Amino acid sequence: MTRAYNFCAGPAALPQSVLSEAQKDLLNYKGKGLSVMEMSHRSNDYVAIAEEAEKDLRDLLKVPANYKVLFLQGGASLQFAQIPMNLLRGHSTADYVNTGMWSAKAIAEAKKYCDVNVVASDEHNKFRSVPAFDTWNLNSKAAYLHYAENETIHGVQFNYIPEVDVPLVADFSSSILSQPLDVSKFGLIYAGAQKNIGPAGIVLVIVREDLLGELLPGTPTMLDYKVAADNGSMYNTPPTFSWYLSGLVFKWLKNLGGLEKMAEINQRKAAKLYAAIDNSGGFYHNPVVKNYRSIMNVPFTLADASLDKTFLKDAEARGLLNLAGHRSVGGMRASIYNAVPEEGVDALIDFMKDFQAKLG
Ligand SMILES: *Cc1c(COP(=O)(O)O)cnc(C)c1O
Repeated sequence: MTRAYNFCAGPAALPQSVLSEAQKDLLNYKGKGLSVMEMSHRSNDYVAIAEEAEKDLRDLLKVPANYKVLFLQGGASLQFAQIPMNLLRGHSTADYVNTGMWSAKAIAEAKKYCDVNVVASDEHNKFRSVPAFDTWNLNSKAAYLHYAENETIHGVQFNYIPEVDVPLVADFSSSILSQPLDVSKFGLIYAGAQKNIGPAGIVLVIVREDLLGELLPGTPTMLDYKVAADNGSMYNTPPTFSWYLSGLVFKWLKNLGGLEKMAEINQRKAAKLYAAIDNSGGFYHNPVVKNYRSIMNVPFTLADASLDKTFLKDAEARGLLNLAGHRSVGGMRASIYNAVPEEGVDALIDFMKDFQAKLG
């Protein structure tokens, strides 16, 4: 059976070699007589799997020793609440940048816990850019500044790390591990697993340890980062299979040559896809300001939207899946995460050219 190229925004493509390895382990993990899914999370075998995954992630991102790495549940969406619950630390206000739908969701949730100061918003510009840093209305009394590094729906990505005086908090759900990152610039980084890490069911949180321990009163124990950190993310039963499979993805990245190598491949994939769009004479269009185009999520429209359905149907027939844009914006979107091979992007570009030649 041949596998298709999957451009889904999430749950997204996983490396084929990782899936094959998981398949080998599925019935009988390394001859132990049981599946990873059937192991106690407290067993020596499983604890070794969990610890190795954390170590490989720390190696890949060069996570400094004073940061905790947590494997939690509830997705990135629960972080929208868990972050203010843990990081307000007696402050009554927090700064947020609004660059798209995920920023907006984080803002809406944070408003339940504090005064949100939206330092800048690109909404009036239909989320096609990142507002210039020198226009941001920063508040020195803010508990932290939150931004979405890569807006998965609008395809807008920061090309720098903001320098601010308060702890920096960033949603890296759709861009974590796509390129090297200086973790030491951040108070907290989080990412839902199902885009660029592993299967759904886990959210990765990397947090500077001095920010922990001052919890908003009434916060559930399960949502206390410190409890998670003190218990190795095993205060209760963690999503063991997602954690295990994420660990295989970390090994795959290390074997590939780490994040420098991954970034090189990702840059090449994105550059050729944007070039194909820009050189289509207007048949295809991406609206994002060039400096802030995402290297992971590439939204585009057809000049003639009545061709959208045919485009998607023909693409599927060529083994190119899940190219429909998010329901809130329409059009197309190719998510070209780490696990989407360069040949997949080449096949997409070939298809787009053929489609234009046939119907343009
Ligand atoms: C997908 C996504 C989310 C939501 O993730 P869930 O794990 O489904 O809650 C949040 N932020 C960004 C940037 C995303 O891409």
